[in-house]
Amino acid sequence: MTVVTRFAPSPSGNLHVGGARTALYCWAFARGREGRLVLRIEDTDRKRSSEASSLGFMTDLDWLGIDWDEGPVRGDQGGGDHGPYFQSERLAIYAEHLDRLVAEGKAYHAFDTSEELDAKRKAARQAKEAYRYDRAALALTAEEVAAKLAAGEPSVIRFRTPDAAITIVDEVLGEATLPAGEVDDFVIRKADGYPTYHFAVVIDDAMMGVSHVLRAQEHFNNTAKHIILQDALGLPRPVYGHLSLIFNPDGSKMSKRDKDKVLRTAVKERAIEGPPADPLGAPMVEADVWATWLGDKSVQLDLETLERVAAALDVSLPEINVADFRRSGYLPEVLCNFLALNGWSAGDDLEKFDNTFLAERFHLDRVQKTPAKFDRDKLLAFNLDAIQEMSPDVFHDLASAHAAEFRPEFLERLDQGQFRILCDASRERSKTLDEPFLVNGFLVSADDEIEWAVTKPVRKAMFKGEPTGLELLAQIRPVLEAIPSFDAVSIETAITAFVEAHADGNLGRIAQPLRIAVSGGPISPPIYDTLAILGHAAVSSRIDRCLAVLSELAPSK
Ligand code: GLU
Repeated sequence: MTVVTRFAPSPSGNLHVGGARTALYCWAFARGREGRLVLRIEDTDRKRSSEASSLGFMTDLDWLGIDWDEGPVRGDQGGGDHGPYFQSERLAIYAEHLDRLVAEGKAYHAFDTSEELDAKRKAARQAKEAYRYDRAALALTAEEVAAKLAAGEPSVIRFRTPDAAITIVDEVLGEATLPAGEVDDFVIRKADGYPTYHFAVVIDDAMMGVSHVLRAQEHFNNTAKHIILQDALGLPRPVYGHLSLIFNPDGSKMSKRDKDKVLRTAVKERAIEGPPADPLGAPMVEADVWATWLGDKSVQLDLETLERVAAALDVSLPEINVADFRRSGYLPEVLCNFLALNGWSAGDDLEKFDNTFLAERFHLDRVQKTPAKFDRDKLLAFNLDAIQEMSPDVFHDLASAHAAEFRPEFLERLDQGQFRILCDASRERSKTLDEPFLVNGFLVSADDEIEWAVTKPVRKAMFKGEPTGLELLAQIRPVLEAIPSFDAVSIETAITAFVEAHADGNLGRIAQPLRIAVSGGPISPPIYDTLAILGHAAVSSRIDRCLAVLSELAPSK
């Protein structure tokens, strides 16, 4: 038997790390068994699905190195004999099977209005009973049904659930039996003509030859519906494995809500009054929406708005989606390694491995039933290790690609030589590909944007000592100005000579004032590199401004 797994995202958002882990397990299970991975886009919810989201999923999978054998065509992958791979393009296939079920009396048209159904649900609630569809539609004669259909009355198709217990066998969670009557006559085709998830998934898994369904645990209960549909349609049953959710260390579900929470907390802590304004001066969020969001933890802002507000307030949001981790500068192979460990173990306490190893070793036996806890510190440590193991060339190439996508201002402002110096100076202490840019924003600021606050380290470096840091700074300015070729080695030679002559050979006495002058703060890459990256003109101009600003604030002697 050929192993066929599938990853079947609904394109209504972004690829969450939980979804990425499902995709990775599906990929590894197929790859390790000479099987195939199918990518199927489950876009039958017309209101929520979007093409941008489908593309986003594929981009994220590509980035993670999860390639598919069958599915939407992208580059040299995809295609296949079982397409189309977008469910919205498979309506004729579903219709054929729906008609068959209706003709066989295994499914029926129902014309109940949503008001009627709501009233029945409400009555069930009041009677403290579980609501089940009462099969009112079955009271109609075949003629009445035909007449209503001919008149174009809106209808759904419901599956006539057999009156029997249903047993789900799951390779990860074990067996569960639902007593007869638990599953009511559920809808398999919606009023808009589209199949429901349950119906489409069953048809497609069978048509696409799927042998193993690995998916999120939230679908475990749905499996009962899928099994009875398979039986009614005479379709084979794949092997099921349901994967636990990924949780935060505090036990909460890892989700977009975490971003809302971080932003809300920051807004409250900083006592920010209203929503920030966009560049045209309009509030980014309507005042009443903002107030509701701030006061009610269950209310969320949409992702785009949330990110704009966070950027405006300089709040960094926790990564949840694959795209977030990418933007934060994680390496795809590290994220895969880490995700693989969140819910599966290789045994022998082995923690570091690549996708090839995962494919060789992945087995459902070692998939954990209990939820995994996502340890961000550990992920960061993995990423740091991987960066430290890289050669300077590789780091430079990856950092350039990262900058091209997320930090273009660095490529615009620095020439190739300067960019290389930044990479070489940052590699050993960077935990992510983004860190060289994140912590060195001053390199791309306009010279007149640098600001100085008289903090403790600034006071010490600039105002203390004999001569003071400011005085040394004034003295070294013409020395730097006179360097003919402003590279790190020439700068080092000039500064070393200056330090011998004017600062008792103590480099720190001048390095720290220089650093503060050019960056605004006490932290930067090594000082010679920093100055070389900035270049002659910026260094002189920043020193001048610093001298002017801080001399005003210096305590009088
Ligand atoms: N489209 C479903 C989802 O994104 C997955 C369905 C399945 O794997 O069966 O949750």
